[in-house]
Amino acid sequence: VEQLHDTDCSFCRRIRSRADQSSDLVCEFPHSIVLLGAWQYYEGYCIAICRHHVRELFELDKLVRHAFIDEIALLGEVLASVFKPRKLNVEMLGNQVPHLHCHLFPRSAHDPDHLKPVWVAIDRAEAAEEERRRLTGAKADRGSLRERIRAELSRRTP
Ligand SMILES: [Zn+2]
Repeated sequence: VEQLHDTDCSFCRRIRSRADQSSDLVCEFPHSIVLLGAWQYYEGYCIAICRHHVRELFELDKLVRHAFIDEIALLGEVLASVFKPRKLNVEMLGNQVPHLHCHLFPRSAHDPDHLKPVWVAIDRAEAAEEERRRLTGAKADRGSLRERIRAELSRRTP
């Protein structure tokens, strides 16, 4: 099992410094931690960060890999139940932070870009303040979003 931590990796630092993560932390699984993402126009958007510093899914030990995928599947089920998306987008990219993590974006039918990946809009948002405000969900109550996800999760886990 890969247990490496990389001191230059922002996700490794995030996992290890609990104080720093408190405001966005939704829950902690055995193999990942779940943070509420910045772009809450996609209500319920979460990032599951693997506790192990690996670049690729295939680098995880098989049992850990299966357990990690199960955590993502459970989180997806919870987000679908709470936010009733038209479709959930589940993405492992890692181009910017090469530490295994998974984005879960609930996509609404009201999103004018619902047929496209979110990154098209997020690219726009990084260049334009008004679009950035729209996608971060200026009205989002992040505390309440976290609570709704946690409540549904605890209903489904013994
Ligand atoms: Zn890392």
